[in-house]
Amino acid sequence: MAANDYTIGTIGSHSALQILKGAKDEGFKTLCIAKKGAEKVYKSFGVADEIISVDHYKELFSLQDQLVEKNTILIPHGSFIAYMKIEDFKDLRVMYFGNKDVLEWESARDLEREWLSNSNINIPKIFNKPEDIDRPVIVKFYGAKGGMGYFLAKNTEDFYEKISYHINEKYVIQEYIIGVPAYFHYFYSPLNNELEIMSFDKRYESNVDSIGRISARDQFALKKIDPSYVVVGNIPITVRESLLPEIYDMGERVIEKSKELISKRGLFGPFCLEGVITPEAEIYIFEISARIVAGTNIFEPYSPYTYIKYGKPMSTGRRIALEIKNAIEKDRLQDIVC
Ligand code: ATP
Repeated sequence: MAANDYTIGTIGSHSALQILKGAKDEGFKTLCIAKKGAEKVYKSFGVADEIISVDHYKELFSLQDQLVEKNTILIPHGSFIAYMKIEDFKDLRVMYFGNKDVLEWESARDLEREWLSNSNINIPKIFNKPEDIDRPVIVKFYGAKGGMGYFLAKNTEDFYEKISYHINEKYVIQEYIIGVPAYFHYFYSPLNNELEIMSFDKRYESNVDSIGRISARDQFALKKIDPSYVVVGNIPITVRESLLPEIYDMGERVIEKSKELISKRGLFGPFCLEGVITPEAEIYIFEISARIVAGTNIFEPYSPYTYIKYGKPMSTGRRIALEIKNAIEKDRLQDIVC
């Protein structure tokens, strides 16, 4: 069997364009499951050989016979997690790129912390009781899309004042790390047991990225401007080259620990460590995404790092397709799908 005996499929949002483009570049057939109204985007970019329109992404489950017949390999991305339940994935009969066991580890905050701290990664301190707050904190709500409603508090009193606007919402109080945010994108290949640094980005968030445009005097005059973290785009960054060894090691530690903690296969494919770099060049990670993240969309056709490694276009989407192609050629597809 070769790449064109398979179809790479995904749902039409998040990072579908680069996934489908990358799959086409590696010689796969491509399929996009798009919500009514979104089909025209995927059609206009010419990345999908076939587009199936649905009212809701959950219809994916009733399309399984069709997908299996086409030898479809599904590539998960953020919208899978956002719009479908993890338990539903477990019963999926269609080939799925990645290790499903990882999903619950990345989506439960306490498991995620256990994984990161066991990997010797610095993580922001969590305050279990508001009375314990002894430094600036960021208060995060569960299931908040795009950091909606998060707030900063400088002490316990400030916390109680601000939380009073959030009734019955589940939250976590996390140490606020002062530094620059950075998102580290990796790819780990279980076929050749190699970790690759793919790219870095930072998010462009409203209004936290615009507050600096208003002088402190005017901020006071305008009174209530609380920072919010709603992502509206992504900005590429390269990091100081002297930080690369630590960033690479962090990725390796996370992979090694996943093999111990989660399941033998552990985490593989694209993943992202999301954090902050302090003025002392310490890296703190507050979240891991165990799949392709939308911040890699800016690296079509390549990032500086993937260009150095491959010398040709290599987005994260294409890297996924290449991994699948290599697995097919080595007759090891079963090692990377479930
Ligand atoms: P995602 O969309 O990735 O699930 P989210 O949008 O819910 O995440 P986070 O990524 O956790 O939110 O954080 C939103 C913003 O808050 C980001 O700009 C991030 O840099 C900042 N942030 C989060 N945690 C901390 C922290 N502990 N210290 C400093 N800044 C933080």
